[in-house]
Amino acid sequence: MNLVARQVTRQRIDVLFQQALNISKYNPELAQHYVVTARKIAMAARIRLPTNYKRRICKNCHLVLLYGRNCRVRIKSRREKHVVVTCLGCGAKTRYIVKTKRRKQIE
Ligand SMILES: [Zn+2]
Repeated sequence: MNLVARQVTRQRIDVLFQQALNISKYNPELAQHYVVTARKIAMAARIRLPTNYKRRICKNCHLVLLYGRNCRVRIKSRREKHVVVTCLGCGAKTRYIVKTKRRKQIE
């Protein structure tokens, strides 16, 4: 796939995600459909979904996660600090590590 086609594909994914985020409040099923379509396009073109999009959707059921509405967010400090996002639609949990900046040592 050439560069232009890749860029057009990225734009299509962007549009689909923006639509999904806009509509998720009113029509979660349609938003889910948009996400599934965007993912299919991304996979076919072998483009990675940007992290900021990835973290807004449930990996299991592709629901658009709205914080405080259909998902639970918990910060865990055991082991490595991480965030656990539980999808209240299907119960799947996504974890991701919180990178903390190292403090400069004061001498
Ligand atoms: Zn889910």
